[in-house]
Amino acid sequence: MKTDAVCISAKCGKSGKDFYMIYYKAFDNKWVLAYGKKDIPFSLDLKGGGAVAVDLTHARKGPQYKCPHCGEEHTFTCWNCGKRTCYDGDNHEGREVTCAHCGEIGVFRRTGGDGGGKAKETMGFGVSGQA
Ligand SMILES: [Zn+2]
Ligand SMILES: [Zn+2]
Repeated sequence: MKTDAVCISAKCGKSGKDFYMIYYKAFDNKWVLAYGKKDIPFSLDLKGGGAVAVDLTHARKGPQYKCPHCGEEHTFTCWNCGKRTCYDGDNHEGREVTCAHCGEIGVFRRTGGDGGGKAKETMGFGVSGQA
């Protein structure tokens, strides 16, 4: 089955509230982070057998995307539990952030090379079967 929409649950780093990051596959087969929503805006079968691992490492961020609670446009992926938390995008060396899911405090480290400073930005967990 073709997967063309992915929903990733996340939490707001400021309010601790849940939200969902909605990715769509663009015409060029690249993923675009399109929206941050308080609720899943379309019927996705999150428990169904259609769950797929989707590589969102190089996903673009759409102009409409932001945290629906505090308005921040950035998220980090927890190195401990693997979940997303919104933050202000300041990922300089030594910056401390706290995961809103498990409470772990982490520090951003420069990994060198392409300048990627994210603590961890790996695989998203997606679902297939968009209506
Ligand atoms: Zn937020
Ligand atoms: Zn965590």
